[in-house]
Amino acid sequence: MTRPIGHRGIVARLESLGTAVRDREHEGVHHAYVFSGPSGVGKWTTAVWWAMSLKCEEATTCDDDCGSCRQITAGTHPDVAFCRPEDSGKPIKIDQIRELIRLMSLRSQRPGPRLALIDAPDGFVVDAQSAMLKFLEEPPGASIIVIVIDNPALLLPTVRSRCQIIRFGTLTKEELISLLTDAGRSAETAGQASAIARGRASKALAYDPEGLELRATLINEFEAVRGNRQADIEPLVTKLADKKNPRDEWLEMLLEWQVAKIEASAGAEVAEANPDLRNLLDGLDPAHTERLISEASKMSFTRSALARQANAKLAIRELLLDIRG
Ligand SMILES: [Zn+2]
Repeated sequence: MTRPIGHRGIVARLESLGTAVRDREHEGVHHAYVFSGPSGVGKWTTAVWWAMSLKCEEATTCDDDCGSCRQITAGTHPDVAFCRPEDSGKPIKIDQIRELIRLMSLRSQRPGPRLALIDAPDGFVVDAQSAMLKFLEEPPGASIIVIVIDNPALLLPTVRSRCQIIRFGTLTKEELISLLTDAGRSAETAGQASAIARGRASKALAYDPEGLELRATLINEFEAVRGNRQADIEPLVTKLADKKNPRDEWLEMLLEWQVAKIEASAGAEVAEANPDLRNLLDGLDPAHTERLISEASKMSFTRSALARQANAKLAIRELLLDIRG
């Protein structure tokens, strides 16, 4: 069984809970867990790994390829239910939770508990949470629910108090590098991606050579506009406002770059994350900090405005006009 990278304390605890479940010593084993923490650090991956390890037919010798592990990976295991928003960006529906609770009341078809993994990074509606209460108060037989959520404060107190909260942190740079090397990245790419990703596995993985090149292009286009009154901002407005582009990610990328510049202006070493952009970092000193922070906060506001469905073109044009100075 391939363990998730990082989160060693959590993985060890889940492994020992798994042993207790297998030995049918249900002492200490809860029926509901909340995996919380920053997005992209491996909460969902860990939840799926735990489900696989609880249901695996071969336990320690399995290479994630026994019948059970393969069914879980494919989402077709009869005892393991996944619940994610039906439309991305929309909350999980109450009917999805009702169906999940109905499934959980059935006997498991294979050895080990029934499991439900709920992926609700931004929380889920109160009605859907209420629908879980009865299950949480009187859980049927051997069944375990794992709720994966960034912030557990978004759970009703009645739900939260009936769950064991397991808090995930970000990954260390070394852990990210080993994750990226396992995924086949060169040492150079792994070094740069892990420095940019600030502890988040999903981000580090997104920065493959192509992702890094796209980032450098975008940053160069942004910097060409910055502080240049003659610059034509329209091409960049169109590019950043285009719905077909991952504009949230791109704005976040630019904001992350802006933060790196703020840090560089305060004397921090950020060249490792930006070997190809070093010329843009040269000469930054504390005299620049105030302006950089002011620009960063405008970028952050623009990002929130877009999340609120503001007119993207207008919002981005306004930002770039500000940045142009
Ligand atoms: Zn297996």
